[in-house]
Amino acid sequence: MSDRDNGKKPISGTREWAVAEINCSMDCPHGCRYCYACYDLVERKGILTPEQWTSCRVLPAEVTKKRPLYPGQVMFPSAHDIVPENLEACLSVLRNLIDAGNKVLVVSKPHLDCIERLCSDFSDVRERLLLRFTITARDNRLLELWEPHAPGYVERKDCLEYAFKNGFATSVSVEPMLDTTDVAAMVDELLPFISHSIWLGKMNRIERRVACESEEMRKEVNRIVKGQSDERLHQLYHELRTIPQVRWKESVKKVVGHQLASEPGLDI
Ligand code: SF4
Repeated sequence: MSDRDNGKKPISGTREWAVAEINCSMDCPHGCRYCYACYDLVERKGILTPEQWTSCRVLPAEVTKKRPLYPGQVMFPSAHDIVPENLEACLSVLRNLIDAGNKVLVVSKPHLDCIERLCSDFSDVRERLLLRFTITARDNRLLELWEPHAPGYVERKDCLEYAFKNGFATSVSVEPMLDTTDVAAMVDELLPFISHSIWLGKMNRIERRVACESEEMRKEVNRIVKGQSDERLHQLYHELRTIPQVRWKESVKKVVGHQLASEPGLDI
């Protein structure tokens, strides 16, 4: 019997990783085309214009807020990223979470100068942090199209290597997989610098969240849809399932028949 049949809400999205999500900015300069937070604030709620979304406005009350001790791993951030423009604010929030005794999952398309600073500031409490870097493909042409203002592949890999060599627990999120033909090779290349996990997931709700304003984008969206077909996901699962660090997001688990998480924040 599935969780849905049980009347229990399935554990999906960020709830697979954390019991709570913390944010301190209202928008994100990375401008990813599949961004849920952007879709929510710009398209769904109409709170921001597309131009406002790509600025970086810090929410001062969130920076200074005293944080409670949560009953499990906390994710920071989930609706923006850590970028040079908001680095000081993000470091303050992290410090507040750590001071309250939390274990924090930091998720980012990382900038090397930000990660160097973060590793330096939190070296004394590194066991309380898990650094998860989103690396969705190795091909910079795809990254520039889908995540136009985020760092390229080499910088993200350098961040992973830097954090790993500085003794932090490291993890990668390949969600969404932008190039399923290259995922296995990318996993192979990144594994030496991953101490914790590498998560693989689909691009969700493409038709609702991704604007297809050109023929190029229509072709791209078709390529993504084809690349995450059930058949392709079964092949990938078969290919990678014995690697201990590999974990599957709910979007893949449902296709391949892998057991869903039973409660939030387990990160398994
Ligand atoms: S980095 Fe994250 S929050 Fe920022 S635009 Fe991309 S998906 Fe959205």
